[in-house]
Amino acid sequence: MKTLQSLDHLIYIGDESFDKLKELIKKYDGEQIVVIADENTRRDCLPLLPVEIAGKIIVVPVGEEHKNIFTATEVWKQLLEYKINRNGLIINLGGGVVGDLGGFCASTWKRGVDFIQIPTSLLAMVDASCGGKTGVNLDGIKNQIGTFNTPQAVVVAPCFLKTLPQREFLSGIAEMVKHAIISEDKSLFQQLSAIETPTVENIAPLIEPAIAIKNDIVLQDPHEKNLRKILNFGHTIGHAIETWSHSSPTPLLHGEAVALGMKYEIQLAQEKQLISITTATRYIAFIQKFFGHITTEPLPSQPLLNIMQHDKKNASDSISFVLPLENGTFALDVEGNEMFF
Ligand code: NAD
Repeated sequence: MKTLQSLDHLIYIGDESFDKLKELIKKYDGEQIVVIADENTRRDCLPLLPVEIAGKIIVVPVGEEHKNIFTATEVWKQLLEYKINRNGLIINLGGGVVGDLGGFCASTWKRGVDFIQIPTSLLAMVDASCGGKTGVNLDGIKNQIGTFNTPQAVVVAPCFLKTLPQREFLSGIAEMVKHAIISEDKSLFQQLSAIETPTVENIAPLIEPAIAIKNDIVLQDPHEKNLRKILNFGHTIGHAIETWSHSSPTPLLHGEAVALGMKYEIQLAQEKQLISITTATRYIAFIQKFFGHITTEPLPSQPLLNIMQHDKKNASDSISFVLPLENGTFALDVEGNEMFF
């Protein structure tokens, strides 16, 4: 088991971290422990969880479209029914949707109860469960409502990945690719580049270095005042593509949209002469190695720009991008309103 010190809690990584989980929950009254899962993680992941719980389970519907205040309200109502008090513990067992939604419900229930994040998708393991961001979407716009709040612990057990659908697994690699590009230590970039075909076996050892890159950044800038914005690389355009794709016949997964977002943001950096064609080509080849198969209908500039205008990261009316620079660093607040596609 590997351990990373995060903001005010530990991240345990490895299937042996279940032992830590057993220890952690001992201090709670069993009747005050609730597991939040979605329909899939209830079926595939809950049986692997080696802890005794009193049967208090809240199952939320699967999917990003349910990461909203209506589902949160259903969760709060069930917490009321289960009589969960200020000493309760919520265990979020699922991908980033359950983690964000369950973390938000825990942050707000009785002004905040303890929670433990048990990410079960690759994306949630390497990204969503680290950094204390919780939240829900509003009218389809991502993460408009939420809190910064840290869990008691994060338990990352790669054994869950065995039941994760292949497309979801590949989608999770996007955030690892992002961490590899933004990291000054290029070893993750090299290790990922060496992988021919990603499998649970060859990706699992890279989960800890991928989390460590994000964790280091979060520790330096917990509330995203400055450095942490680097983690938004690929996300300004990526979030817009993701939101837009949900009303198209071929919705994209978060990681797939972020992969496209990184590609277009690299192209934008090249157009703005922040990086050379050689660097842009090298980064894009790295992204395409895992995401070359992702295609969309022609992307519509104006609707995407409209979505980007609403992006919570914009300080002013113009759109704010995180773009790579030639020396391996990043510009964190490049403003622009131009068309890209
Ligand atoms: P998700 O939670 O929808 O999970 C993807 C799918 O995989 C779902 O169908 C889920 O039921 C299924 N699944 C998850 N684990 C499984 C398992 N082990 N076996 C079988 N099925 C499993 O999506 P995601 O990609 O995990 O997360 C995306 C969400 O994370 C987005 O809402 C995004 O905004 C959020 N996010 C948050 C942060 C943060 O810092 N809080 C960072 C990145 C992403």
